[in-house]
Amino acid sequence: MKAIRIHEHGGVDRLLVEEIPSPALRGDEARVRLHAAGLNHLDLWVRRGIPGVRFPLPITPGSDGAGVIAELGPLVKGFAAGDRVAVAPGISCGLCEDCLSGRDNLCKDFGILGEHRDGTCAREIVVPGRNLIPIPPSLSFEEAAAVSLVFLTAWQMVVDKASVRPGETVLVLGAGSGVGSAAIQIARLHGARVIAAAGSAAKLAKAAELGAEEGIDLSRSDLREEVRRITSRRGVDVVIEHVGKATWDQSVACLARGGRLVFCGATTGADVSLNLRQIFFKNLSILGSTMGSLSRLFTIFRHVEAGRLLPVVGRVFPLDRIQEAHRLLEERGVFGKVILTL
Ligand SMILES: [Zn+2]
Repeated sequence: MKAIRIHEHGGVDRLLVEEIPSPALRGDEARVRLHAAGLNHLDLWVRRGIPGVRFPLPITPGSDGAGVIAELGPLVKGFAAGDRVAVAPGISCGLCEDCLSGRDNLCKDFGILGEHRDGTCAREIVVPGRNLIPIPPSLSFEEAAAVSLVFLTAWQMVVDKASVRPGETVLVLGAGSGVGSAAIQIARLHGARVIAAAGSAAKLAKAAELGAEEGIDLSRSDLREEVRRITSRRGVDVVIEHVGKATWDQSVACLARGGRLVFCGATTGADVSLNLRQIFFKNLSILGSTMGSLSRLFTIFRHVEAGRLLPVVGRVFPLDRIQEAHRLLEERGVFGKVILTL
C-alpha cells in the first residue's frame, strides 16, 4: 500500500511516498481503508524531531483518519466490513484502572497514532476495535478526518479542565489553529462568550463565523489592553492557549479573579515565569492538558452529526503533495485543518 514514511528527521524533503506492506491484523483489531487523513502540529514535531525524544523510525505520520472498514478481527463486535468510521488517535491498554475509568489518556501505555506507532497518512491502517468511531452518512471523509485530535484536545481543555459555564467569557488564542477553531465552538456550545485572538483580520472573520463574538488582531493590537477594553477591565474567566512563551505573561494577566488558564502546548517555547502572588491572590488555576478521554469522541461526533460542532477543513491535498501540505501547516497559512486525501 501507499504510505508517507519518515526515515530520518528533518525538513519536508524527509516525507517520502513509499509502497509498504499492509500491516498484519490481530483478533481485536480492524483494518480500515482510509480515504482522508488530518494533519496536526504533532506531525511537524514527528518530522523535525525533538531533542531527547525518540520516535520509532521509520514511521508513517498522521493521527487523524477516516475511511471504510476493510477487515475485522474475530474479537471486534458491533461493526461490519464496509462501515464508515473515523479512527480515534489515542491508543491505550484498555485494561488498567485509568482506561476503565475513562481516563485512557493517563494510561501508562498511552500512545498516539503517527507518534508512537504508524499513523494515518497511508491507504490502510490497523487499529484496535475500540478505536473505531462510527460516522454519519452526512459527513464526508475529509470532514470526519478533521475532527478527532483537535476536538478531543479542545473538549478536555474547555469542558473537563476549565469547566466552562454559561455566561463566562473565554479567550481563545491561536484562534485560526485546529484546536483554536474547535475550542471556540465548544465554548459557545457551553454558553460562553468567546473572544478570539489571531494574527490576521481574515482569521478573525472566520472565527466570528464559528461563533466568536469579539476578535483581537494580534498583528495590530495589544492582547491585554484589548481584553481589558472588551471586558470593561474585568478580565476573562478562561484562557485557552498553546502558544507558550510569546503570550504567557499576557495570558495570565488577562485572567479575572478565579480565572483558569488551560494550555495544551508551548509552540513558541516552554520556559516561562510565574508570579505566585498573582496566582493565589487572584485565585487563579493553571492547568496543563494533553489529548482527552476516548469516550468524549462519541459525544463530539454526536454534536457534529447534529450540526452543533463544525469540522473546519481549511485545505485539501492529495497524498503525493504531502510536502506542500506540511509547508502550509508550518507557515500557519490556513484557517482550520489541512487534510490529505488517500
Ligand atoms: Zn490502560
